Order: sequence, then C-alpha cells, then structure tokens
Amino acid sequence: MLAKSVHDAGWAAFFFKLSYKAESAGRQFLVVVAHGTSQRCPCGAPNPKRLNDREHVCVECGLVTTRDHASALEILRLGLSLLALTQPEVRVIVA
Ligand SMILES: [Zn+2]
Repeated sequence: MLAKSVHDAGWAAFFFKLSYKAESAGRQFLVVVAHGTSQRCPCGAPNPKRLNDREHVCVECGLVTTRDHASALEILRLGLSLLALTQPEVRVIVA
C-alpha cells in the first residue's frame, strides 16, 4: 500500500518536472493514457497481440513495424488528438 503511494508520488513529481521543463521550453505537456495502445494500430484498427508478439502487422493500413514503435505512434496520435481538442486551431496529421 505504501509502495503504491510512493510510486504514485514519484510519477506525480516526474510529471510536474516534465510539465515545468516543457513550459520553459515553450512546449506543451499532455498526459496520455497509454493503456491498450499496443492493441490498436495508429490507423485506428484493432490489432490484438499477446505479450510475446513483438511485431505489429496491420491488415487495414499495411503498417509493419515493431510492437513498441506502433505503440509509440499510437501514443503520439492520442496526444495530438488531445491537443487538437484543447486547441482547435491545431491540425493533426500523423503519417
Ligand atoms: Zn493500421
């Protein structure tokens, strides 16, 4: 129980520092819920995988890459979508 509190406080402090550094660099810091990002393709198609499946192959858009790279692209897409919601003048294009 205490370990979880320490863990949560550690993430909160880390996010605070990231937010501060982003703002001081003229950037924005957004938190994206990364849960399930390895189970979707950045094109939006579901792409279920088991934990030991390390390759991402999408039959919808043809994207072939590593599981981690596909997850990173999905996290980027989610973050840019969130940014577009908060700032409608921002255009979101993920290729
Ligand atoms: Zn796809």
